[in-house]
Amino acid sequence: MPLDLAHDGARAKPYPETPSASIARRAGNDQHRIVVVGGGAAGLELITWLGDRLGRRRAAITLVDCARTHLWKPLLHEVAAGSLDPGEYEVNYLAQAHWHGFRYRLAQMIGLDRAAREVHLAATVDDEGRQITPPRAIAYDTLVVAIGSLTNDLGTPGVAQYAVPLETPEQAARFNRRLVNACVRAQTQESPVRSGQLHVAIVGAGATGTELAAQVHLTIRKVVAYGLDRIDPERDIRIVLIEAADRILPGLPERISKASRRLLEGMGIQVRTGARVTKITSEDLELADGSVIASVLMVWAAGVKAPEVLRALDGLEVNRINQLVVKPTLPTTHDPDIFAIGDCAACPQSGGLGPVPPRVQAVNEEAAHMVRQIELRQGGKMLQPFRYRDFGSLVSLGRHSTVGNLMGFLFGRGLFIEGLFARLMYHGLRLGHERALNGSLNAIVAVLARTLSRRIGPVVKLH
Ligand SMILES: Cc1cc2nc3c(=O)[nH]c(=O)nc-3n(C[C@H](O)[C@H](O)[C@H](O)COP(=O)(O)OP(=O)(O)OC[C@H]3O[C@@H](n4cnc5c(N)ncnc54)[C@H](O)[C@@H]3O)c2cc1C
Repeated sequence: MPLDLAHDGARAKPYPETPSASIARRAGNDQHRIVVVGGGAAGLELITWLGDRLGRRRAAITLVDCARTHLWKPLLHEVAAGSLDPGEYEVNYLAQAHWHGFRYRLAQMIGLDRAAREVHLAATVDDEGRQITPPRAIAYDTLVVAIGSLTNDLGTPGVAQYAVPLETPEQAARFNRRLVNACVRAQTQESPVRSGQLHVAIVGAGATGTELAAQVHLTIRKVVAYGLDRIDPERDIRIVLIEAADRILPGLPERISKASRRLLEGMGIQVRTGARVTKITSEDLELADGSVIASVLMVWAAGVKAPEVLRALDGLEVNRINQLVVKPTLPTTHDPDIFAIGDCAACPQSGGLGPVPPRVQAVNEEAAHMVRQIELRQGGKMLQPFRYRDFGSLVSLGRHSTVGNLMGFLFGRGLFIEGLFARLMYHGLRLGHERALNGSLNAIVAVLARTLSRRIGPVVKLH
């Protein structure tokens, strides 16, 4: 029995069944059906703008996401370290959809039928295994795929069993529980704290790993300071950041990399570059040079690949790391009605540069450009090529410092920044995302509310 899923123009049904065009005709509705799959940094900004501009009358707009809430991914390392409560930052898709003129459907995309113009969605089940929604298909006229990326374990044995990736709030919270539990265990066990028991090894010194190392250094000491007096932080706690490249933050300018390393080492964090992890066990990590690092708390933050499902999208072109290959105007190479933005898209840049990098700033720009493309498409006009403008990069090392660079076209040349100014700019990025989703006033109210709630609670999450 077909299940009415979305706007009149964006209906869903169990698949395989009648093609989408006939569904639209049956509904007696000729609204253009826009479906966005993935409500992350790119997809949620896109659909909020589309909903505000076109949603209530000019198009039937639907978001599909396998999660119920959105948390901006650059906050995940703070969730993992315990310095941020995700509940304070999460955006609920159902409410966001209600406020911004689009529909939200909870489901995981598992395939595509391009001839029928339908996205195939898996059934969803609750914690007890009872079905919430059946397998179904949702019809589109324009489809935007924005399902992000995952870490890439590069086939390294033991990663899946023993290391925690930081891709979702649940994984970040899981690592935080491991961290707090390890401290509580060390406090209550009869035997002395053994070597490696309170060591944290972070594999991958991109922005995620580097920022996580600084945050964990801070928060693990705070947890211990809440009365766990059998733990001696100087003796028992050690944080190791491991990177296969010859410097940390290999994707960023060398000056940021050097400044960050200096700050991390100043805190007492051990940084190992040119070190490739070949195997992980429950107690340690083995490196290609034969050395072994003892640690029971491990995070895998190395490498990026797009989700495997993109290989099964009815013949759409993908690259080596599963990204959908798109034209400079953002449609996929094999289907002009299907677009991809964000980390899951390989968007070419002119001038021999590689694809647009998987960074929040880039995905925000793509989302804004995608809004314009949809408006051009609706007006029957030519699409415009996307041009990525790199405004620079910022790396937050907790309260110790923030370092970064502002790119040349703003100032005539690149500008290295550090300290308070860099920190304010870093917070500005986060605020920018909240403004895009909730408007300026609500974003400022949310900042004030969080500042007040932090004054009355513990500064780290203890459960
Ligand atoms: C821990 C961490 C820290 C980071 N820090 C920084 C930083 O400091 N600076 C920076 O520039 N970048 C940072 N990044 C990268 C940045 O977060 C990403 O570039 C950005 O989030 C990508 O946005 P996106 O919308 O493409 O994907 P995402 O934000 O990952 O969103 C993807 C969405 O798709 C949904 N989804 C996935 N698969 C399916 C499916 N099959 N069906 C339906 N829905 C699906 C997910 O639930 C999610 O909501 C960080 C990333 C991580 C993981």
